[in-house]
Formats: sequence, structure tokens, C-alpha cells
Amino acid sequence: IERTIETATKQYPLLLGDGAVRALPCLLQALSCPPGTKMLIITDDVVAPLYLDEVRATLAAAGYDVYAYIIPNGEAAKSFDNYYACQTAALQCGLDRRSLIVALGGGVVGDLAGFVAATYMRGIRYIQMPTTLLAHDSAVGGKVAINHPLGKNMIGAFHQPEAVVYDTAFLRTLPERELRSGFAEVIKHALIRDRRFYDWLRAEIKTLADLQGGKLAYCIEKGIDIKASVVREDEKETGVRAHLNFGHTLGHALESELGYGVLTHGEAVAVGMLFAILVSERLYGRSFAEHRFAEWFAAYGFPVSLPDGLAPHRLLEKMKGDKKAYAGTVRMVLLREIGDVEVVELEDDKMLAWLWEFAGQGG
Ligand code: NAD
Ligand code: ZN
Repeated sequence: IERTIETATKQYPLLLGDGAVRALPCLLQALSCPPGTKMLIITDDVVAPLYLDEVRATLAAAGYDVYAYIIPNGEAAKSFDNYYACQTAALQCGLDRRSLIVALGGGVVGDLAGFVAATYMRGIRYIQMPTTLLAHDSAVGGKVAINHPLGKNMIGAFHQPEAVVYDTAFLRTLPERELRSGFAEVIKHALIRDRRFYDWLRAEIKTLADLQGGKLAYCIEKGIDIKASVVREDEKETGVRAHLNFGHTLGHALESELGYGVLTHGEAVAVGMLFAILVSERLYGRSFAEHRFAEWFAAYGFPVSLPDGLAPHRLLEKMKGDKKAYAGTVRMVLLREIGDVEVVELEDDKMLAWLWEFAGQGG
């Protein structure tokens, strides 16, 4: 499957399917990367033993001068230290402005390697090679970043890749918890934009075990199409792109407050989406009760309440530091209807009351 991702600043191809990695040489030629071009593959220590050799060999056979740098796996690796270490590796390998970085891994590798590419010598080209379900989201759209202990994705850039090569064969080794994590973003895409896809998910994906074969492929395709259409409309998040943050205001606060990697990104977003739904119900004076969202999420194994020991006022402080907030006011993406969201400014006292209410719903 091939798609063209279009943004205001750039168009690039996305190749999706089993064995997509074999199309790399052809694709690189089309991108006018002559043999001899230096390429630095950035990957993590789980993905490297699984897929680095294959990708390296494919690139080397096409005549490229290939290097690799391996970071530890996990959310905590999206750090300034690893960013700096990657820059050091790029300099030591002698990458120049015509060189390419290849991000081989999940969203952590993609965000970090993309930010390295965005800033090395003021910006060089890079390719996204996603290896997780979650990366159907993170590999598309050009947002790249690292975390700061004080806040998630706080240091970053917009830097679109030259191409996305998504070999779905790589997903076969993905652990169940990571499949679940990525599925949260699939649910998000349905809830913000696509009532029919949402109905399909409710009918066809009863548990994580249903997430394989053609159904998994369909989720990936739909997710990519929704993400791509939002990014086409608004590359730099001056408008509708903020809708993709549904569930992320509390989600990001949870990730940094608990410590990166305690919850997966998708677990945090799932809890965040349930909170956003509660706030939507209170603010719009309506009920989504018939959807039984918490039960639905629980059937996949998502946490459905605030983890113990988190103080609502601390979460509120984190949410006020979110990138959507300005002048110290929390802004959240709320659900008016399935497929219809809106960004709303919310006062502190209301936020705090709803956080307490949400905390009270836990077991
Ligand atoms: P991740 O990159 O940490 O991958 C999850 C785990 O799976 C890691 O331990 C990794 O080593 C392992 N793994 C990866 N591929 C594997 C495979 N094929 N087989 C076995 N194990 C594999 O995390 P993620 O969930 O892919 O990405 C989460 C990150 O993405 C978060 O930091 C989030 O903020 C970011 N994100 C960014 C955007 C964006 O627009 N840039 C969008 C959504 C999420
Ligand atoms: Zn996300």
C-alpha cells in the first residue's frame, strides 16, 4: 500500500505492508540518494537484535555507507542525554548535510531520531521506519521531540521525514502491552473523527486478540488516513491538529508525574480519554453512558482510573504546563459527539473538582 502524506511544507511517500523494507533501495533512489550516501540508523536495544541486521544489510547491498547507534528502549530514553549521545554519534560517523538518519523503532526512537535530524547541522533528512502499532501515529506528521523531567515532549520541532516505510511484518514480535498502547491511538483517531470506524471497532475488536491479520491492518490504515488528513489541514498545530491531543492533556501529565515509562503512552492516553469524556459530559450537560466507555477500555486491559497516590492539584499544575495551555489556563480537547471534538478553555476550580470526581471513581 502506498500513500502520499501531504503537508503545507512537504509531500512524502508512506509505504505500508509486509516486506515493505525491501522497497527501501528503490525508494531511496527515487529520493535521489546516490550510493555512498552516509546513513545513520538510530534504533533501540530491543529492536536492534530483531531487525537491525536486515535493515542494515538492505541498505549496504544498495551501496550506502551505513552506521548504527543503539539507545536503551523505553520512554525514559527520549531524553536529553540520548539526544546528545546521538549527535555525538552523528559527528563521529562524519554525517554531512546530504546524509540521512533512519529511525528504526517505535515512537520513542522516531521522536528522538527525528529531533536529532531536525537539529543536526540545522536539519538533515530522515526516514521513519516504524516498528510498533503506536507508530502509525507518531511516524506521520513530523512532530519530533524529547521529554523533559518537567514535561512531556517539551523540547522539539516540526520536521517532516523524507518517507515512512512501515513494514508490518515487524509487528509480529510486538508484546501485547505495546499492541494495547498503540491501540489507544487507534481508538483516539476513531473518537475524534470517524463515527463509522468507531462503530466498526466496537463490533469487530472485542479484545486485543481480535487485533491481528486483516483487522489489525485495517486499524493501521484507518489510523494513518485520519492522522494524515488532520496534518494535511494543519501541519503546525494552529487549529485542528490540536484535536489529536484528545486524551493527552491528562495523559501527558500522568506520564511525567508518575515518571516516564511507568505507564505506556497508550495506557496514559486511555485514562486521559476517559477523563476528557467525563469533562465533556459535565460541560455539555450530556451523557455518554450508553457507550460504557470504561467497560469497553477495560475489556482491552487498559487502566480505567487514576493510579493511586496522585494528587489532583499536582496533576492540574502539570496540565497547566501543557503546550495547548496559555496564560496559565488548561485547554482540553472535548468530545461533543463521537467524531466531533472541540478545544475548550477550563477554569482551575472546575478542573480540580472534576479531577477529584475522576479520582473518586477508582477502585
Ligand atoms: P516505544 O518506541 O518505546 O516502543 C515500545 C516498546 O516496544 C519498546 O520497548 C520497544 O523497544 C519495543 N518494540 C518496538 N518495536 C518492536 C517490535 N517490532 N517487536 C518487539 N518490540 C518492539 O514506544 P511507542 O509506543 O512506539 O511510542 C511512544 C512514543 O510515541 C511516546 O513518547 C509518545 O509521546 C510518542 N508519540 C509521538 C507522536 C508524534 O506525533 N510525534 C504521536 C504519538 C505518540
Ligand atoms: Zn499520543
